[in-house]
Amino acid sequence: MTAFITAAATIGEFRAGGTDLSERRRSGRSTGPLVDLTGLPGLAEITPTPDGGVRIGALVTVEQMARDLSGYPALAATAAALATPEIRAVATVGGNLLQHTRCTYYRNPAFSCVKSGGDGCPARTGVAHHGVADDRGPCVAPHPSSIGMALLTYDAVVEVSGGPARTVAALFGDGSDGTRDHQLGDREILTAIVLPPPLPGERGAYERATSRRFAEWPLVEAVARISVTEGRITTVRVGVGGVAPVPLRLVGVESLLLDGAPDGPLAAAAAAATDGLRPLPHTAYKLPLLRAVVLDVLHRALTGPDQDAAGAPRP
Ligand SMILES: Cc1cc2nc3c(=O)[nH]c(=O)nc-3n(C[C@H](O)[C@H](O)[C@H](O)COP(=O)(O)OP(=O)(O)OC[C@H]3O[C@@H](n4cnc5c(N)ncnc54)[C@H](O)[C@@H]3O)c2cc1C
Ligand code: SF4
Repeated sequence: MTAFITAAATIGEFRAGGTDLSERRRSGRSTGPLVDLTGLPGLAEITPTPDGGVRIGALVTVEQMARDLSGYPALAATAAALATPEIRAVATVGGNLLQHTRCTYYRNPAFSCVKSGGDGCPARTGVAHHGVADDRGPCVAPHPSSIGMALLTYDAVVEVSGGPARTVAALFGDGSDGTRDHQLGDREILTAIVLPPPLPGERGAYERATSRRFAEWPLVEAVARISVTEGRITTVRVGVGGVAPVPLRLVGVESLLLDGAPDGPLAAAAAAATDGLRPLPHTAYKLPLLRAVVLDVLHRALTGPDQDAAGAPRP
């Protein structure tokens, strides 16, 4: 594998499911040779780890994640809700984490910006309704990976061929580097994501607010993982997307809920979801949306059966 990677990375851009890449090829944003990863052995499987967790190969599809990770309900619900059934059937977890921004200026090669190797950000002075709700640096496009957001809540580790393993948070960085959507090197291949064992009785929920019900990235999205022991919330993790140039974990919301009663004041905790955020002139509308979506996932993770993308209860 290492020999392949050393040779392949000098040849061109990696291609997994191709659902992000092919759109950039069509627009002319991606040119030059491609290196197909789909034949690499052992990367399309989900396997148990000795400690009771799982290793998810980078070529595992989003559909597989949604179907085969019922022990990780927040992650499975996130995977089930993104894109369309057709995209989920071919899109891979590695490609999902490493997909490029959906910013319409970036996707149009007629524009130049800091992310495409130029200067400045035309979105700041142009149309930025889909932009971040927390302005952290030169690029104001929200990170597109829903799965990255969910993995942030699991202490997931990313295995890399050609480089060291790292946390999902380190894979994305803090959002201040406007030139990149992730911090993986050009000659590194993401090979797997390793999850620790699920918590006993773990519950999870995912929700998004969208401008269109189907086949659209969210305006904002949220995921929650919660476990309750002897009437107290013993673990709570909340992740959000559509908010910043990287997926975010809301530790402030979590700390308000931890060790409290499951029927405690969820609305007050959800209200803290927007504390400290610095929206753009066009994106202040995202703040109440975010508070509502966070409240919804907290409520559902604590009280109701989780639902699949079509709204049907999960078993
Ligand atoms: C209509 C629509 C709606 C969508 N909605 C959502 C949404 O709500 N949330 C969401 O998260 N996504 C959404 N998507 C995006 C979709 O999930 C991604 O296109 C897909 O996950 C990318 O995976 P892929 O395997 O096709 O990646 P590819 O297109 O093959 O690759 C994407 C990028 O990752 C790199 N890459 C891929 N695998 C590796 C690897 N193992 N190591 C190193 N580099 C690698 C490639 O070089 C490329 O730059 C949507 C897409 C569509 C078309
Ligand atoms: S938001 Fe980011 S990707 Fe979009 S134009 Fe600005 S720098 Fe480029």
